[in-house]
Amino acid sequence: MLSKDSSILIIGAGTWGCSIALELARNGYTDITVLDGEEVPSSIAAGNDVNKIMEEGSQSEEDTDSAYAWNRLHDICTEAWLNDPLYKPFYHRTGYVMAASSDYAYAALLDDIRGHEAEYQQLDSAEGFRRTMPEGVLTGDFKGWRGFSKPTGAGWVFARGAVVAAKQEAEKLGARFITGHRGDVVELLFETAGLQDERIGAGGGRLQGVKTADGTVHTAHTTILANGANADFLLDLKYQLRPTAWTLAHIKMTPEEAKLYKDLPVLFHIEKGFFMEPTADTHELKICDEHPGYINPIYSSGSDNSDKSIKPGNKSIVGSRPFAKQQIPLESEARVRAFLRETMPQLAERPFSFARICWDADTPDRMPLIDWHPSSSESESDPDRRNFLLAVGGSGHCFKTMPAMGRVVREFLEGRVDERTRRAFRWRPETAVDRDWWDVQDRWGADGKVIDFGVVKGWTSIGQ
Ligand SMILES: Cc1cc2nc3c(=O)[nH]c(=O)nc-3n(C[C@H](O)[C@H](O)[C@H](O)COP(=O)(O)OP(=O)(O)OC[C@H]3O[C@@H](n4cnc5c(N)ncnc54)[C@H](O)[C@@H]3O)c2cc1C
Repeated sequence: MLSKDSSILIIGAGTWGCSIALELARNGYTDITVLDGEEVPSSIAAGNDVNKIMEEGSQSEEDTDSAYAWNRLHDICTEAWLNDPLYKPFYHRTGYVMAASSDYAYAALLDDIRGHEAEYQQLDSAEGFRRTMPEGVLTGDFKGWRGFSKPTGAGWVFARGAVVAAKQEAEKLGARFITGHRGDVVELLFETAGLQDERIGAGGGRLQGVKTADGTVHTAHTTILANGANADFLLDLKYQLRPTAWTLAHIKMTPEEAKLYKDLPVLFHIEKGFFMEPTADTHELKICDEHPGYINPIYSSGSDNSDKSIKPGNKSIVGSRPFAKQQIPLESEARVRAFLRETMPQLAERPFSFARICWDADTPDRMPLIDWHPSSSESESDPDRRNFLLAVGGSGHCFKTMPAMGRVVREFLEGRVDERTRRAFRWRPETAVDRDWWDVQDRWGADGKVIDFGVVKGWTSIGQ
């Protein structure tokens, strides 16, 4: 049985890894080690970003396990962003403007606010959109835009700040962070390494340890995999994760502009892009280009899907492989500038000061995957033998849930998770059988398609 002095190893010191370390350290666990291949905040972490959208409270009116668990995550994280002294300083409750242009995307917006209509004000004219921000910010023509504004109960969080603060506090409370080469996990060591177990994937038996790039083998009573989009590198996840990348760019503002742009509500057009106010210190305005995502497909060379090699000639996709790049495709730059021309044409031709592709991991139903790995739950009748927990699958919308992730993972570790949450986040390979790797998963923008990095024609050359 896990006790407060049991050794706990967390792989990944990103959004969820830092939240989990903090939650465990705050609750008296004394032997926590966190491994990350980079210093915190890692340059490849989805959470290493200047801002992320946050919406408070329950999000769904449905009565499904997923809706229940998703609402619960939101309730827990809302409480933390509003009241927890560690998280609270990073939440900016500036309000939210959401918009769409096409009929089908607008219908999705209506669906999204169903049951909460009273919290929103309708926007159906350019003037209406322009009035949501101080004069001189939104000067575009907003042609064809329709949407809503929500003056309170939403805003954005300073993402990188929250990740670093959680790490520092966890460290103060005794958690150890091993980062860089010594923290870069290269292999998970199972009892029967090399053997192929059809049911649980590569490697059979219990997890024995974790090998890092310097050759050290780390062992622990319980290991938690929280390395985001890169989880699939280490473990056969039975196609439950699709690493998907989005694209973001920064524009440098003058100090005067930054003053005018301070405390802006979030503006999110679900087919075109979104932005929030510029960073307080460097005055950089981040713009996200909205689209269903890019993937870097991995093709199977034959019937044996364990042979993951990149062979674009073969049509059988078996995954998507993340890679790091601090540039974005030129087509994405063009979309960002088109979005600016409709909203803030005064900024549309300004050079980018920074850009990058940013990866997250999509599950087929966009719910997190938090569960004991089958190599552990095999011995469910003997909870003492469970030693390997998965905490992955942010699916493009799980920064805001950061404070809740630690709590839910602790419930799993302590055997206290409620049945509906357990079912919603369970190991569920049956949902990924014959996975459609091009599924847009309720996202819009670009040409309404998931895009293959393999067909990108050119990249920005910022700083070159
Ligand atoms: C462009 C973009 C915009 C987004 N906007 C929003 C938003 O507005 N609101 C919202 O709620 N969510 C948003 N999200 C989603 C959110 O950022 C993610 O769901 C969340 O950050 C995922 O957290 P994570 O801990 O799983 O992964 P990460 O934060 O990526 O952390 C993974 C960590 O694992 C480490 N790691 C990787 N491999 C290894 C290894 N082998 N060994 C050791 N360490 C390793 C990495 O260095 C990293 O630190 C957005 C995502 C993207 C990509």
